[in-house]
Amino acid sequence: MPSESTSHSRSGSRHWGEQLASAVRTLDDLLARLGLDTTDFGANGANLLPDPEFPLFVPESFLERMEPQNPEDPLLRQVLPFQKEKDQAPGFVIDPLGENAARTVPGLLHKYAGRVLMIAARSCAINCRYCFRRNYPYQQEPSRLADWEPALDYIRGDESIQEVILSGGDPLMLTDRRLRELHDLLSDIPHLQRLRIHSRMPIVLPARVNDELLELLTGSRFSVVVVVHANHPHEIERDCSKALQKLKQAGMIVLNQAVLLRDINDSADVLAELCERLIQLGVLPYYLHQLDRVTGVAHFEVSVDKGRALIEELRRRLPGYAVPRYVQEQAGEPNKTIIEFINDTD
Ligand SMILES: *Cc1c(COP(=O)(O)O)cnc(C)c1O
Ligand code: SF4
Repeated sequence: MPSESTSHSRSGSRHWGEQLASAVRTLDDLLARLGLDTTDFGANGANLLPDPEFPLFVPESFLERMEPQNPEDPLLRQVLPFQKEKDQAPGFVIDPLGENAARTVPGLLHKYAGRVLMIAARSCAINCRYCFRRNYPYQQEPSRLADWEPALDYIRGDESIQEVILSGGDPLMLTDRRLRELHDLLSDIPHLQRLRIHSRMPIVLPARVNDELLELLTGSRFSVVVVVHANHPHEIERDCSKALQKLKQAGMIVLNQAVLLRDINDSADVLAELCERLIQLGVLPYYLHQLDRVTGVAHFEVSVDKGRALIEELRRRLPGYAVPRYVQEQAGEPNKTIIEFINDTD
């Protein structure tokens, strides 16, 4: 099938591995491509600061969806490193979700009934500055297939587990071959029924939704749920819409999770447009996450009161199925907490 995306996007038709290799990795390059200069950031300009611990990494396909010469662009703001990431903010800690405690065996988090989360890959196709796993000790996690044995054994030994969530990092960073090997090992575990893939790649690097991946997912005995991650309607353009459509046409359940981010999507207009665009493509808005209070992300936080007001506004404007659940992950809770319904004023 000829790639229809070439007419819209310069990068869209190239193999995803090649696109990863040519991703933008320096602040200078990023700004130059957008026709920007550090002085465009006003008082903050001097405070742009690359962080070698969590480097800048932006694929060109995502960069092409940013508006040139706009220092406030909501996609740019998700990847732009500021010195304030280094500020100590009260309440912001390394592991607010208690993930280390839930890490049952290497590479596996078992926090909730019936489902386990596998840290299937250690990196992503983009580095989001607000990332809740930006301080995660990935280097301790499995990388070779054989390293997965303890995790697989754990799943084999617990028949209450029905669903495996591949997360990371981004699980679609695995090659098609490795993904198939992992899939097949899971498929051999009789009590597993569902496979869920948490990936931002269909959004930031849509070429990842290739024929090999679609073949693997449609040939699976599992019912497959793909949860993508888009925060702003401008992310869902061009070849990204096509990638989402391909997943839908292949019969997947496709859901979106977003993170509520200051000056990026903390407005009812932006969120409503995001939800409408998702629904248009058959993708259900699943979660709107209150920001996890991880060290380095305080400048992205939106208050819970504002978040609740935004959700109320969405309820007034949109059909019920288009309104995401506003949730927060709390260490030690048996599920994600729907904060919308908590009344803490009395
Ligand atoms: C979010 C999460 C899940 C999935 O929760 P759902 O509410 O089913 O989407 C599972 N395990 C962990 C560790 C999680 O953080
Ligand atoms: S894609 Fe997800 S896991 Fe990866 S950096 Fe962004 S928020 Fe973090």
